[in-house]
Order: sequence, then C-alpha cells, then structure tokens
Amino acid sequence: MSAVRTEGFDVVVVGSGIAGSSAAVAATRRGARVALLEKQDTFGGSTALSAGMFWTAPDLDAYRRRVPLGDESLGRAVVEDYAECLEELHATGERVSDTPKTDIMTFGIGYSTDILAILAWCRAQVEAGGGVCRTGTAALRVLLDDDGAVTGLLARTAQGGRVRYEAPAVVLAGGGFQGARDELTRAMGPNADRLLLRSNPGSVGDGLRLARQAGAGGTTAMSTFYGHLIGSPVNRFEPQDFLPNSQYYSDHAVLVNMEGRRFVDETLGDEILNQALLHQPQAGGVLVFDDHVRTTVGTDEPFPGLGAVDRYQVAVDNGALHARADTLEDLVARTAAWGIDPAVLGRTLQDYVAAASAGGGFAGGHPVSSRARAPRTGPFHALKVQPSITFTFGGVRVDDQARVLDPDGRPVPGLHAAGADIGGLSNLGYAGGLAPAYITGRRAGRSAARVAGAARATGAEPRPPAGVTAGV
Ligand SMILES: Cc1cc2nc3c(=O)[nH]c(=O)nc-3n(C[C@H](O)[C@H](O)[C@H](O)COP(=O)(O)OP(=O)(O)OC[C@H]3O[C@@H](n4cnc5c(N)ncnc54)[C@H](O)[C@@H]3O)c2cc1C
Repeated sequence: MSAVRTEGFDVVVVGSGIAGSSAAVAATRRGARVALLEKQDTFGGSTALSAGMFWTAPDLDAYRRRVPLGDESLGRAVVEDYAECLEELHATGERVSDTPKTDIMTFGIGYSTDILAILAWCRAQVEAGGGVCRTGTAALRVLLDDDGAVTGLLARTAQGGRVRYEAPAVVLAGGGFQGARDELTRAMGPNADRLLLRSNPGSVGDGLRLARQAGAGGTTAMSTFYGHLIGSPVNRFEPQDFLPNSQYYSDHAVLVNMEGRRFVDETLGDEILNQALLHQPQAGGVLVFDDHVRTTVGTDEPFPGLGAVDRYQVAVDNGALHARADTLEDLVARTAAWGIDPAVLGRTLQDYVAAASAGGGFAGGHPVSSRARAPRTGPFHALKVQPSITFTFGGVRVDDQARVLDPDGRPVPGLHAAGADIGGLSNLGYAGGLAPAYITGRRAGRSAARVAGAARATGAEPRPPAGVTAGV
C-alpha cells in the first residue's frame, strides 16, 4: 500500500478557472480554509484563454427567448446575481469596463474585463485567508462516508504521489467535458470526432465523472455546446489562434454544406451555426460573403480589446480552403474543385439572394430572415469552415445553490459544482460563459462554506492536521 499524505481543509475546490476561483473566494470570505486544486501546471483553464467579456442575458425574459430549453432556475440565478457580481469585480480594483456592450451573441449585455488579473486577485484572496492554491494536482475521486456524504477528495500530484484532502465540502469546477472524446461521441454522434478543440486541454470531463461516481444525476443539453466556426483545414490551432480564427461574422454570410445546400437560418448567430454544422455531412461547410462583409463585420473587433483582425485572412493564412471571384457565378465555379456541385450551389445562392432582396422568406427549405444580407458587392469570397467546441452545455445536475443533485433530485451532501461542469443553463442557445461560471461558483462557494460551518459547529470531525497515512 503506498503512502498517502493527508491534509485537512474546510472546502476543496477542483479547477482554477473563474468558477473555481470565485467559489474559493466566496468560501474564504465566509471563514472557510480552502484548497484550490488545478491539474495543469498553470492556473486559469479556459478562463485564462478567454476574451474576458463578462456577459449574460439582460433579463429573464430575454434568457427564456434565447434559451427556451434552458434550466429556468439557473437562468434566474444568473440574471439575479449578475449586477452584484459585476460590483464585486469592480471592487477588486482590476480593469472592468464602465461601458456595456450590447447584442453580444445577438442578445446579451456585458462588460469587458482583465480576466487574468481578476483570477490572480482571487488566488491572492484565498491565500490571504489561509488557504492554498496548487497547480499540478489532479482530483481523482470524491471521498464519501457510509451515508454518501462528502468527506474529502483524493488527488494526484505532478510527481505521481497521492494526497487525501479531508473536507466536508467539495466544489467541482473542472470546466466541462469537451476534451472527452468518448463522452462527446456518446452525446453528439460520430461527427463529434471532427470537432476542433477550442479549449484548455484539461477539461476532459473529470467533474462529470467524479460527480457521477458520487451519485450525481445528469442534465439535459448533453448534445449541445459552445464554439465558433473555424477555417478548414487548419495547419495550426493553438490557443493564440482561437480568437482570431473564429469566424464570428457568419450571421452576415450564406452558410452551405458540402453539397451546396443551406441548413440553418444564418442570422441565428455563429455559435448556433457552429452546432448546426456538426450534423452536416463530414461536418464541413462553406461561408459565402462579399467584400463589404469581409472588411466590416469580418474585421471589426467583436469585443473591446481584441483588436481589428481580418478573420478570413487569418483562416487563409492558417491553411483554409478559400476562393475569390468578381461574380458569384465564378465563385461557384471555383468551389467545384472542393466537390460542391456547381448547379446546386448556384441555385442555393440565387434563391437566397432573391429571398433576402425581398425582405426575407425561404430558400432551400430554410428561413431567410428579414435581417439577412445578400452578398452583392464583389469581390466575393468562399471560405471552408468546420465546427469547434469550447465547452459543453450539458453536465452535472445542480440546484440553484449549486448543490449537486442525484437522479431523484436529492442533494449529494457536501458536493457542489459550478461553471462549465454544470449542465442545463445553456441548451443550444448560449447564455454566456464567464459570468454564469462566476455566479454559480460564488453560489457553490457560499453553500460549501455553510456545510463546512455546520460540520465545525457539530465538532464531530475536527480538521485533521497534515500528516502521512497508509492507503486511502
Ligand atoms: C478562446 C476563448 C474565448 C472565450 N471568450 C469568452 C468571453 O469573452 N466571455 C465569456 O463569457 N466566455 C468566454 N469563453 C468561455 C469561458 O472561457 C468559459 O465558459 C469559462 O472560462 C468556464 O470557466 P470554468 O471555471 O467553468 O472552466 P475553466 O476556466 O476551463 O477552468 C477549469 C479548470 O479545471 C481544471 N481541471 C479539470 N479537471 C481537473 C481535475 N481533475 N483536477 C484539477 N483540476 C482540473 C482544468 O485544467 C481547468 O484549468 C471563451 C473561451 C475560449 C476558449
């Protein structure tokens, strides 16, 4: 039996993105001694790769309209806490914009932040409260007593050693299961293997797995996810490519599959088109747009601070198939080399232009919105695109206090989850990443601190000192 080091805390948090960081701060503020554990060798997860836009639905009605399949209790929690959480971010003294950005992902409202500085601020708070923040520490298993209540967590260090973290409350904030190919194909079908990973590499479904082992139930939304269309193919897709190669402007283009047919209303927004493309043959598609789109919405910065970048050019430079022509007829002829039947694509574009010019209607059996813009000012561009995945919308089942629920809806005592590890808030429609993660993390941290406070009050299980024991 190998030696296992044991340490005692009030609350153990798995994952150092914004969900875990906010949970750790919230628990620390309520007097808990916290261990914040990160399996990678740097802190921050996908949060640290993000654009830092702290956004969500402006109100519950807007949430209901955009995410009709969403979990309304979570939607209400996020909308209710948003203003207070924004105030908290301001109070950190780190950069948070004073000017809101509206119509994010077509409907949301948000503020640009220096998310890296905010993450660092959170860790400093945890340490100032007597807690620890550790990289290279992977949670392996939630430990339970005979009644199914949390007693701690078993973790592995970067050197391969085992540490038993004893605590009456655990928060799972591992960032989703987008890196778990087995879970993805189970939930989304075989084309999930074609999804480009637009995420930190550590979010491989540990939170969901650990929660299930501890008795958790799952949620709806398992087949839906957040991501953006990316040029195809890519000869390089590193974190520094995630933002510039995202073709955010696709709602101003025509999107066809590799048969040359439309399959979705483009004006629904890039994150919806990205999901729709996954279910097309070979998950491949082509964006068709004119030079006006390329040089305006195709180049403008989607969020303050990201800078203007010609996204089409980035995709081309990274290896994407592309074509350019002065007329749509010539453009169609050029894409024939990609295997697209020119007769089909030509008819699709003709029908689309006719419907858009008439103020909306149908083309190829799919709606053309009154907001649709027909490609009209040459030169025209065609760009091959593929779907990507940033995080999964389904996951661990929780209540509005971020307490993990079993399949019958009963809390698993002491177990919490937050951020991209929880499921149901977004479901096909997307209600934001950072703000919901911060808000659910904060609720999880508060609830976990309550559990720890109650455990201390009973005095039944005094916090054990650090030491070495045999076995687990
Ligand atoms: C390029 C990009 C841009 C984005 N821009 C925005 C934006 O502007 N606005 C917005 O709202 N959203 C944005 N998002 C989405 C947003 O970043 C995520 O929704 C959010 O960061 C999720 O936070 P989280 O704390 O749940 O997960 P993460 O930040 O991913 O953190 C999870 C962490 O848990 C760790 N972990 C996993 N398993 C274990 C384990 N067993 N033990 C220990 N640690 C573990 C992982 O290594 C990871 O570091 C963007 C994402 C990307 C990739």
